[in-house]
Amino acid sequence: MYSLRLMASKNARLFEIAYNLVDPFLHALDPLWRKIGYDRAEKPFAVVEELAKGLFFDCQMCGRCTLNSTGMTCPMNCPKDIRNGPCGGVRADGNCEIKPDMRCVWMEAWRGSEKMKGGGKINNIMPPVDHTIKGTSAWLRVIREDNAAKEKASEDGSGI
Ligand code: SF4
Repeated sequence: MYSLRLMASKNARLFEIAYNLVDPFLHALDPLWRKIGYDRAEKPFAVVEELAKGLFFDCQMCGRCTLNSTGMTCPMNCPKDIRNGPCGGVRADGNCEIKPDMRCVWMEAWRGSEKMKGGGKINNIMPPVDHTIKGTSAWLRVIREDNAAKEKASEDGSGI
C-alpha cells in the first residue's frame, strides 16, 4: 500500500531495529529449517513474506531483498526496476517521470537510508535483478546462504 510504503521509509530506523531483532532469530532456527527441509519451508515462508512485506513495502517478491540497503524502500516499485538509482528522470518535485503521482522510489530510499544506522549500505552497488528467483522467499534464501557459508568456513578452518 503506497501510504504504508512512504511511512516505512519515514520510519526506516524502526524497521531496521525490527529487522536486526528478527534476522538473527530466523538464522538461529537453521536446524529447524533443515529438519523441515528448506525446499518444503519455501512455500510457507514465501506466503508470510509476501503478506508482511507486501503490506508495508509493496514487495514484488523479487527473491533477493535489498530493503536493508535501500532505506526500507523496495526498488522493485521503480517502473524501470532500477536496483542502483535514481535514473536521470526524477522530476523537480521529487516524483517519478513515468508515474508523476508517485515519489521517486530512490528519493524515498535516500530519505530512509539517512535515518538508518546502516544507511551507508545504499552506496553499495547492487547486482541486477535475477528473474529466475522471482516469487521465492528472499528471507529463506539469505538464511540458507549465510548458514551454508558459515558451515563452509568452519569446515575450511578445521581442515587447516
Ligand atoms: S527488494 Fe525484492 S524481496 Fe525486498 S521488498 Fe522489494 S521485491 Fe520484495
